[in-house]
Amino acid sequence: MDAEQLREYGHKMVDFIADYYKTIENFPVLSQVEPGYLRNLLPDSAPNQPDSFQHVLDGEVAQLILEFIRLHIQAKILPGVTHWQSPNYFAYYPSNSSVAGFVGEMLSAGLNIVGFSWIASPAATELEMIVLDWLAKMLKLPEDFLSAGQGGGVIQGTASEAVLVVLLAARDKVLRRVGKDALEKLVVYASDQTHSSLQKACQIAGIHPENCRLLKATSSTNYALSPEFLSETISQDLTIGLIPFFLCATVGTTSSTAVDPLLSLGKIAKSNGMWFHVDAAYAGSACVCPEFRHYMDGVEVADSFNMNAHKWFLTNFDCSALWVKDRSALVQALSTNPEFLKNKASQANMVVDYKDWQVPLGRRFRSLKLWMVLRLYGLENLQCYIRNHIKLAKHFENLIAQDPRFEVVTPRIFSLVCFRLLPVRNNESHGNKLNHQLLDAVNSTGSAFISHTVLSGKYILRFAVGAPLTEEKHVNAAWKVLQDKATSLLAESL
Ligand SMILES: *Cc1c(COP(=O)(O)O)cnc(C)c1O
Repeated sequence: MDAEQLREYGHKMVDFIADYYKTIENFPVLSQVEPGYLRNLLPDSAPNQPDSFQHVLDGEVAQLILEFIRLHIQAKILPGVTHWQSPNYFAYYPSNSSVAGFVGEMLSAGLNIVGFSWIASPAATELEMIVLDWLAKMLKLPEDFLSAGQGGGVIQGTASEAVLVVLLAARDKVLRRVGKDALEKLVVYASDQTHSSLQKACQIAGIHPENCRLLKATSSTNYALSPEFLSETISQDLTIGLIPFFLCATVGTTSSTAVDPLLSLGKIAKSNGMWFHVDAAYAGSACVCPEFRHYMDGVEVADSFNMNAHKWFLTNFDCSALWVKDRSALVQALSTNPEFLKNKASQANMVVDYKDWQVPLGRRFRSLKLWMVLRLYGLENLQCYIRNHIKLAKHFENLIAQDPRFEVVTPRIFSLVCFRLLPVRNNESHGNKLNHQLLDAVNSTGSAFISHTVLSGKYILRFAVGAPLTEEKHVNAAWKVLQDKATSLLAESL
C-alpha cells in the first residue's frame, strides 16, 4: 500500500467515476449481454506477471491505471453492468448513492478496519451506536430502541441478515422458556407478501418448513395482512399444541408497498408472547417525513425494526439499520467469547461488541457513510429528497390515468406505481402475456428499466422512482417508451 501510488490511482479512479456519472445515460440501463459473456473476454487463469510490469518500474503508475480502466473496465465490465444509478432506472427498489455516501464509503475502505469488538476500533462501535440513535430519533422510534436503555441499533449488511438475527434471537429466547426439544413446534407468521428473506431465515434457523405460515393477503386489504386471519390461525395452531413465537410485519412490501396494520397485529403478537419484527426496508426512509410517519404507528409494540439506508436514503450499499428493544436477546443467541478476543473492556461489560449482534465476526466501518449523509444533507434535505420522488411517482400515476389502455392496480402509497396494460376483451391470460411482452420490449430498448410482480394472478408492472438523478423528464421519457411499445404490441395482437 504505497501512499503515492494510492494518490495517483485514487485520483484517476475518482475522475473515471465522476465521468461515469456524467455520461451514465449513454449506457443501456439494463445490461444487454448474454449469460456467460465475460468468460469469452477474460483468460482462464490469473496472470503470473502483472499487466504492465515495466510501467511500475518506470514509475508510470497513472498510465497503468488508465490502461486498466480503458482495456478492462470500459471494454469488458461496463457492458455487463446494469446501471442502478441511472436516472432511467425504475426497477425493483432503488439503491442510492450520493457524494456523501460515496466519500464515506471511500473513507471506510481507506481505514479498512475490522470492528468486531469495541477494542478493535472504539470509534467504529461508538459512532455506529450514536448514528443509529440519531436515525432512530429521526424516525421517532420509541425510546426503548435507543442505546441508552436495554435496546440499541446495529448496522447489518442487508434486511435479510436483520430478519435472520432477530429470528435467531427470538427462537433462542422462546426455547429457553419451553425447552430445546420444542424447536419442531415453533411457528412463524407473516403475510404471503413478506419478503422472501423471512423464508430463508426460517430455513437457516431450523424452523419446520410447515411452520412458516405465510398468510394470504388479498386485494380486499390492498395486500396487507389481516389481523383477524392472523388471530384465527394462531388459535388453531395453539389448539394443536404448536408454539407461535415470531411475527414479521412489513411497512411497504417489496411487491406492491402494502402496509401491514402494525398496531393490531403487534397486539396479537404480544398477547401470545411472540417476538414482533417490523420490516420497513424500503418505506422506512419515507417515515422521516411527518406526513408518512403514521404508516409506522404501532412500532411501539415491536421488538425489532429494520430499514435499509442503502435503498432510498442516499447511503451507498450496504447499510441496513436494525434496532432491537432487548439487545441481550441478540447477544444470548449470537455471542462467542474465544480466548484470542478477550480484553479488559469486554470482560468488564463496559462496551458493546457488535460481533455478538450479527452472523459474521468481521464488520466494516459502515457508520461513517451514514454519518456523513446525515451531517452533510440534514433531515430537511432528506425529507425534500423523499417528497420529490413521491411527487414524481404521483406524476407517473397521473400520466397512466390519462391513457385508458392502462390501469393503476393498487393504490400508490410511496414512490412505487403498480400498473398494467389492460387486457384486450377482458382476456386475463392474454393480458398477462401482453404485459410480460411490454416489460421485455421496454427493457430491451435500454432507455428505461422497470420490473414486474404478480398480484392475485395478474402480471403487474412496477415503476419505482428513487434513483437520485431521476427528474420529471426521465419519468416522461419512460412513459413515452411504454406508450409506444404498448401501441405496437396492441397493433400486433389485433
Ligand atoms: C429490499 C427488501 C428486503 C431485502 O433487502 P436486502 O437488504 O437486500 O436483504 C427485505 N424486505 C423488504 C420489504 C424489501 O423491500
